[in-house]
Amino acid sequence: FEYAPAPESPAAAGDIASSYGHFIGGEFVDSSGSEALKTVNPATEQVLAEFAQGTDEDVDRAVTAARKAFADWSALPGSERAKYLFRIARIVQERSRELAVLESIDNGKPIRETRDVDLPLVAAHFFYYAGWADKLDYAGYGANPKPLGVAGQVIPWNFPLLMLAWKIAPALATGNTVVLKPAETTPLTALRFAEICRQAGLPKGVVNIVTGDGRTGAALTAHPDVNKVAFTGSTPVGRAIAKQLAGTRKKLSLELGGKAANIVFDDAPIDQAVEGIVNGIFFNQGHVCCAGSRLLVQESIQDELLDALKRRMGTLRVGDPLDKNTDIGAINSAEQLARITALTAAGEAEGAERWSPACELPGNGFWFRPTLFTGVSQAHRIAQEEIFGPVLSVLTFRTPAEAVEKANNTPYGLSAGIWTEKGSRILWMANRLKAGVVWANTFNKFDPTSPFGGYKESGYGREGGRHGLEAYLDV
Ligand code: NAD
Repeated sequence: FEYAPAPESPAAAGDIASSYGHFIGGEFVDSSGSEALKTVNPATEQVLAEFAQGTDEDVDRAVTAARKAFADWSALPGSERAKYLFRIARIVQERSRELAVLESIDNGKPIRETRDVDLPLVAAHFFYYAGWADKLDYAGYGANPKPLGVAGQVIPWNFPLLMLAWKIAPALATGNTVVLKPAETTPLTALRFAEICRQAGLPKGVVNIVTGDGRTGAALTAHPDVNKVAFTGSTPVGRAIAKQLAGTRKKLSLELGGKAANIVFDDAPIDQAVEGIVNGIFFNQGHVCCAGSRLLVQESIQDELLDALKRRMGTLRVGDPLDKNTDIGAINSAEQLARITALTAAGEAEGAERWSPACELPGNGFWFRPTLFTGVSQAHRIAQEEIFGPVLSVLTFRTPAEAVEKANNTPYGLSAGIWTEKGSRILWMANRLKAGVVWANTFNKFDPTSPFGGYKESGYGREGGRHGLEAYLDV
């Protein structure tokens, strides 16, 4: 017996317009320029819609709208701002099927993930930060913490709506107004979110969405009337923004790349660890900044663990994101597929051994088989560089100290995982791992109450939890 529910219908995504402008001052408006970009369904390569390439003038209009809205929005009692955020959270829940399907067709990620992970977390972030809005004065910040003003927010394509929620919910709760630029391969859920802002009756100009590529992002982060920049994306772009902002008084938070170690000790329950490894690297096609992309396995259990892992990888289903049984969906873009292909080729050229289960891939669209590299040395590019795809590099260790040393041997420091039955070892390791998040006997668990962010080249500042408020306040 095989459980085979009917696939989700693309029609559940609701109406997708053939072309979109920006959302500025509470209205959908045309761009001042004529350049348009296209967003495609990465599972079919079909064009879903055209959208505007935001010009400097568009960005200026959006920042001006946000500035105008700031005076009234920041003066509202926190309890009033909270009502809007609670309303947004409830509408996201009510429209979650529509949003999940739209996200899956624009991004390529499996419906099981958008339905069960992305959308519940989006709503949870709005509920959580709504709860803070009326508690800021008295919950440990001293008297009268002040919002910063207009926040310019730039987000990537791997969790489009969830990254939007991470950015917009705390900014609004603390009384800031925002201009957000979604990634150029996944603009559709941000534009649909603009409709939700209208449905919630959010005052005009509190949230503005300007679409476009990196040029639009750079115009936003450079705009002189932006007080705070929040960026999630690649380390090179994060570095460029930090340089661009040097000497200005803008506050900056950066959430960048990662190369996490998932560390399995010989006393770990193997089956549970295998599930955690699979979730760590194959969740969202490995398009995850905190993905467990390096497996560090204790030498004595290497053979047993890799046998079990290969068996499990053989059961993963790659294909149609709208099929409810799909484990691995489409790679987000042709460019990302080319990056993954180039780095895995480098892995082979440097002498690592490559393995993938036999599985058929659909004809059209962008796809990559789940892939495992053994015989990896620490100097290999596949052990150092972020691949951002379904590719796992396996290294071994003998002692906990060696595991720490290898885990920390990367320019990044976003996350890590530890698998062991020994509680004392979890604490010993967690205190020595240079990573903003350390999971024990689990992986890729997110919660709005918990701060998230990096060490080293993974960035600075924290999103989520109480710490996430500080990025938007002068205390
Ligand atoms: P990217 O840095 O190229 O793009 C991210 C966003 O920045 C996009 O919206 C893009 O249009 C914009 N952008 C590009 N150039 C810009 C510039 N000069 N100024 C301002 N904005 C600019 O990254 P990507 O390829 O879209 O995303 C993948 C990367 O994001 C990975 O490296 C991943 O690790 C990282 N990421 C990090 C986190 C985190 O929380 N740390 C989360 C998701 C993704």
